[in-house]
Amino acid sequence: MSYRHLLDGLDLGFTTLRNRVVMGSMHTGMEDRFWHYPKLAEYFRERARGGVGLIITGGISPNREGWLLPFGGTLNSSLDLRNHRLVTRAVHEEGGKIALQILHAGRYGYQPLVVSASPLKSPISPFKPRALTEGGVARTVAAYARCARLAQRAGYDGVEIMGSEGYLLNQFLCPRTNRRTDRYGGSIDNRMRLAREIVERVRAACGERFIVIYRMSLIDLVEGGNTWDETIQVAHALEAAGVTIFNTGVGWHEARVPTIVTSVPRAAFAPLAARLKAAVKVPVIVSNRINTPELADALIADGSADLVSMARPLLADPEFVNKAAEGRANEINTCIACNQACLDHTFQNKRATCLVNPRAGRETELVYVPLATGAARLNVAVVGAGPAGLSAATVAASRGHRVTLFDAGDRIGGQFRLAMRVPGKEEFSETIRYFDSQLKRHGVDVRLATQVDGALLAAGNYDDVILATGIVPRRPAIDGIDGPNVLSYADVLRGAPVGRRVAVIGAGGIGFDVSEFLLHRPGAPLPQPRDAWFEEWGIDPHVGERGGLTPGGAPKPVPPREIWLLQRKEGRLGAGLGKTSGWVHRATLVRNRVKMLDGVTYREVSERGLRIARKGVEEWLTVDTVVVCAGQESLRSLLPATPLPGGPVYHVIGGAALATELDAKRAIREGAELAARL
Ligand code: FAD
Ligand code: NAP
Ligand code: SF4
Repeated sequence: MSYRHLLDGLDLGFTTLRNRVVMGSMHTGMEDRFWHYPKLAEYFRERARGGVGLIITGGISPNREGWLLPFGGTLNSSLDLRNHRLVTRAVHEEGGKIALQILHAGRYGYQPLVVSASPLKSPISPFKPRALTEGGVARTVAAYARCARLAQRAGYDGVEIMGSEGYLLNQFLCPRTNRRTDRYGGSIDNRMRLAREIVERVRAACGERFIVIYRMSLIDLVEGGNTWDETIQVAHALEAAGVTIFNTGVGWHEARVPTIVTSVPRAAFAPLAARLKAAVKVPVIVSNRINTPELADALIADGSADLVSMARPLLADPEFVNKAAEGRANEINTCIACNQACLDHTFQNKRATCLVNPRAGRETELVYVPLATGAARLNVAVVGAGPAGLSAATVAASRGHRVTLFDAGDRIGGQFRLAMRVPGKEEFSETIRYFDSQLKRHGVDVRLATQVDGALLAAGNYDDVILATGIVPRRPAIDGIDGPNVLSYADVLRGAPVGRRVAVIGAGGIGFDVSEFLLHRPGAPLPQPRDAWFEEWGIDPHVGERGGLTPGGAPKPVPPREIWLLQRKEGRLGAGLGKTSGWVHRATLVRNRVKMLDGVTYREVSERGLRIARKGVEEWLTVDTVVVCAGQESLRSLLPATPLPGGPVYHVIGGAALATELDAKRAIREGAELAARL
């Protein structure tokens, strides 16, 4: 494919974007501390070098009240300009353009200075906001204008005014959070006054030749959100006030509807961007769950939008645009929307990176240096083609080493092949496709269906052996565990027949995934089509009601199976799942009436089912099948007790090194870090 719509430039009258790809704003954590700006500059430089047309920075507050976190990134003084110039210079040197996102968190701020339209606490921050006075509103408008002007002086090509996802401007715009009775509350004209004044003042401060993007919420997905008519009224007013481009956002952060996790259908909300585009004259950016050049190109070709915003996909692969342009789309390292290393890190106050690309956010620290001319090329054996082994093999080979990759299975991917069978995780196959392309590109000698043993390794005369042999599922010692009605998660995901009533032992990530797998109705299409997904989550995609939620909420399905999900420890099941995705899994199981039991002791399995004890009371769970998802144990029997003198150097990574709290994020990172050092 040529992706000509996506790669076509966009003339804004006073400046031209080299293509239609916008890197959407993502909080990395680096923008909050001045000493991280050199790293931040390199992070953006790689994305600009990779061909992105327009980059939008992570959110920067216009004043302290607007902080998302205490001492979060702020641009309110000319003392800040030096750091920001590092960023703008890096992007411009690579031929890109960059806009600074001005983010006032309002009541979403996780800090005590928070303000909002009205003194209503949000469900996602412990701090109750103070209502801005009219004087406070005027100072806020001035702070936005000052921030934009400083951004212009720092060399930014524009600013994005964050008006979606439930932040301050949404809080003024919607009756849910705006109970004011002054000029800024009541009618939609009043509620949008703050946003309009900000756009007018920013435009006045920065002149006509400056990009002013406004990120609009197209569907709030909360009760008391706006109607579609109001959204369009706001758009018209802001267009008249001086907006250059509308970016689009979906759902407030407090919404109980997922908007970006893997199970959200790709481009689910693009039809709303198309409706906005039809109603305004300025260009519109479509966003949310767009992660391939095919889809991005199609959305521009079919008139849904003028530009496509991708944030996480450019964390996953900074060369996304260049690869598409060079006919190498097959080599794009696709974002699988897991949130594990980006958004989940942000919530844990850690620097954002990426599960499939551990270099993201660490561009100056994790560097894959090619072997110098004449340097010794190591002969490396990698045993295991799961995420850890694939990562090690491809990075080592890309640097110039001679790499042989073995796997006992007849396909690469390891446990990730099981993960991609879970409904909503189909896109995990993209990671395997990416690694496959890299094995070919870097000439790795791949030997599948090969059970490696000591003799095979000895015969290979290797300098280094990397054991990435992964794990074996744990088989807990329970009476009757070897019975015919007991299956491991791997058996189930490979298609073993499972009865109608099921007990799942172990409620970690895999226990949840397997439960979702068992709730899938035979014959229902996967990935889930957009309309079915809207219905499942109670979304009215036409935004007929305020906020776009279906009156009466999501329907209660009749589940195809009766499932008990069990864990030994006391406490909420799924507490260890990712912050940004765990609630989605829990909500799905609750909706399907999965019975979640904690504090369970397993007594025995028989043809009658599973006997458990809980709070001193014994009971039989009358089930047809027991599925074991009780964690894993490392498999590293190939590691010699004492290395032979003159023999290869052994390394152990991924699940083979440590099965506890193993995930693909750690497996891929360990593989890459080891290979970068060889
Ligand atoms: P593995 O993936 O286990 O790979 C080891 C490989 O070594 C296997 O292919 C095996 O055949 C091979 N091997 C072993 N011994 C030999 C030998 N002697 N000779 C040749 N080959 C050998 N992780 C996440 O981060 N996010 C998720 O959402 C997620 N979901 C999951 C869902 C499910 C259902 C499952 C099962 C796992 C999920 N995981 C997830 C976990 C993730 O898949 C694992 O953490 C990851 O695969 C571990 O990688 P690894 O390379 O260490 O081991
Ligand atoms: P896990 O998260 O460690 O969960 C193992 C479960 O088994 C726990 O519920 C544990 O809880 C139980 N268990 C442990 N030992 C047991 C025993 N001897 N007998 C009975 N129960 C026992 O591991 P996992 O679910 O196998 O997942 C493996 C890795 O894949 C995880 O680290 C996870 O991060 C990753 N993964 C991630 C996702 C995701 O969405 N991010 C999805 C799937 C997998 P109790 O001890 O309380 O019973
Ligand atoms: Fe995408 Fe997961 Fe990487 Fe985040 S961590 S950018 S969601 S692949």
